[in-house]
Amino acid sequence: MISINTNFQNLSQNYLFAEIARRVSVYKEAHPQKHVISLGIGDVTRPLAASVIRAMHKAVDDEAAAATFHGYGPEQGYAFLRDKIAEYDYRSRGLDIKSDEIFISDGAKSDTGNITDLFGADNVIGLTDPVYPVYMDSNVMCGHAGAKYEDGYERIVALPCTEENGFSPALPDRTLDLIYLCYPNNPTGTTLTRLQLTAWVNYAIAHHSLLLFDAAYEAFITDDTPHSIYEIEGAKSCAIEFRSFSKTAGFTGVRLGYTVVPEELKYKTADGGELQLNQMWRRRQTTKFNGASYISQRGAEAIYTEEGRREIMANIDYYHENARVMKSSLESLGLKVYGGVNSPYLWVRIPDGETSWSFFDKLLNEAALVTTPGVGFGPSGEGFIRLTAFGSHDDAREAMERISETLG
Ligand code: PLP
Repeated sequence: MISINTNFQNLSQNYLFAEIARRVSVYKEAHPQKHVISLGIGDVTRPLAASVIRAMHKAVDDEAAAATFHGYGPEQGYAFLRDKIAEYDYRSRGLDIKSDEIFISDGAKSDTGNITDLFGADNVIGLTDPVYPVYMDSNVMCGHAGAKYEDGYERIVALPCTEENGFSPALPDRTLDLIYLCYPNNPTGTTLTRLQLTAWVNYAIAHHSLLLFDAAYEAFITDDTPHSIYEIEGAKSCAIEFRSFSKTAGFTGVRLGYTVVPEELKYKTADGGELQLNQMWRRRQTTKFNGASYISQRGAEAIYTEEGRREIMANIDYYHENARVMKSSLESLGLKVYGGVNSPYLWVRIPDGETSWSFFDKLLNEAALVTTPGVGFGPSGEGFIRLTAFGSHDDAREAMERISETLG
């Protein structure tokens, strides 16, 4: 009889988006004539930028002739794209990131989930609460979370992000080995200041911890908030950074992201040896990943032209405009709203007497609106719902009118 990975039994059973989909489908069946507006799952709606489309069409043509055909590419990603990323996302900001420290992938979900391959099973892991569920579930699946208790896992330490602490988690009073930070944050839409990020980097250096910094939403930053953890002095010695083209360039369907693993990240082994995370990740990717598609990488390269940049920023501005309209409408109804400035997410305090799920149901049943109950991202998310600004202007406005009628 085969032995099965029973860690899967320890996963939280209620996958948030599956439960939302179930409730929405029940509603739609009962109200087939209603136009249901989704402010729920974080998927983009604007079409790809014209320069990206042109570059991908050209890449398809490359595949049509033997002289320009591309089969398997480099597992780490084509140099034409890694060089652009190093130059425009990092060196132009004064950050010394080399092309060899950049690994292209099919998205940040894969990388934030697969990174567990690099670590042993006995680390103490810090996760913000609320949290992007992938960090938690990927550690549970591979057994790194340890035993499951009623309110958590043996080796996972929750870092609450609450209204009281301004959604900036307190530095732990114990040593955490791995700490996942996501800023701008999903789900709260909030950011950490340079000073707050510096405190985390200093903590990581002092405690020999590693920060796993997810910057999937950096393109939404509108003020002087750092776009990269490497803007903080010392971060190259204690942080891996994940980036995604999904929200930056609308690639949720194309699939492309990248991870920066600095060469400085080296760790002693029990037998007196040393392992370098950059080499380990390269080995991991060459073993289990065969590279992102040539066509998608050519598409991403196009966003590093002046025209491509202008076009993707126009799409991001479109979502920002939704966020602005939504935030001001909700605030005019007396609701407390966080995020929505450096992020496509609004984290909305729900009216007294409601729970995240009861308010979700109210908006679904009375306003035909789909939102995301905050508690689905962790216990500290109770009392909030998350709204996304990824829809059309018309839907965003209508959604606000419907909320106003429901609450008014
Ligand atoms: N990281 C965060 C915080 C996200 O919210 C998402 C997607 O919603 C991802 C990563 C996944 O990005 P990708 O589409 O590149 O897999």
